Amino acid sequence: MRIIALLLSAVTLISLFACTKSGTSAPHDTTVEESTTLPDTTVPDTTDAETTTEEITTEEITTVEITTAEPQFPIYGEDEYTYNIDVSKYLSYIDPENDEEYLIIANRKHPLGKDYKPSNLTYVAKGQSWLLRRAAKEAFEAMRLEMQYLGVYDTYNRSTYRSYSFQNTLYNNYIERDKKRYPNLSHDEIVALVDTYSARPGTSDHQTGLTIDFDPLNESFEDLKAFAYMRDNAYKFGFILRYPKGKENITGYKYEPWHWRFVGRDAATYIYEHGITLEEYMAKKNGTEIEYFD
Ligand SMILES: [Zn+2]
Repeated sequence: MRIIALLLSAVTLISLFACTKSGTSAPHDTTVEESTTLPDTTVPDTTDAETTTEEITTEEITTVEITTAEPQFPIYGEDEYTYNIDVSKYLSYIDPENDEEYLIIANRKHPLGKDYKPSNLTYVAKGQSWLLRRAAKEAFEAMRLEMQYLGVYDTYNRSTYRSYSFQNTLYNNYIERDKKRYPNLSHDEIVALVDTYSARPGTSDHQTGLTIDFDPLNESFEDLKAFAYMRDNAYKFGFILRYPKGKENITGYKYEPWHWRFVGRDAATYIYEHGITLEEYMAKKNGTEIEYFD
């Protein structure tokens, strides 16, 4: 009796599948009486079979349309990346499932404000006081190991996370220094000058906790093996060159080959492949206009 009941349940499932159009389901407590109709249900007539096939096909097409419309940017597959080291334990950081929290813009037009403090700040290395957000720290660790494997040792991390108050001190020190250097310039001219190389407090990319400045903090960084490596490979670890050459009117900063920023691997790959900035990427992603600096 139990076996018959199970068999009936199985048949009920089959008939449910075959009769998608009606949407009616047979009750679970199938009676023996119904068993007399078994042959009819399991072998539907030709018309029914055709209808079912058509319906399934329509559903498949609908699903494909939704999938195509959803992601605005490609999600890159594993096959596109090669590493010499084993990155498996770093991968969830390098390529975060949700990268939105790393796609932060901090500039003069979009200040983070005084109270912005990123979450998950972690020491970059033991014995160092430099902090990064956990994902950026792990991704950097993987990139550093890869560079080491390839014999690229000619730099190290200098400045990473900077709090609002740290940036405030830094900025004001630059103002004072340049006032002494250029006594003939007005206060506004000094501010305009300092704005080209230092962020006002609340507007620094370093306040995101996703940024690394590499040594040395000047254009000679370009001559290092590290720069050559990072220029072509940092995207594999989710990093981008934050202030590229020729994009000053979009980023608001002069070219800084030493300043790298974590955004996650998908965004980094897109930015690298298209030769664009984070500002341009975000404008494209959000369907907004690029805001230019004067
Ligand atoms: Zn920097």
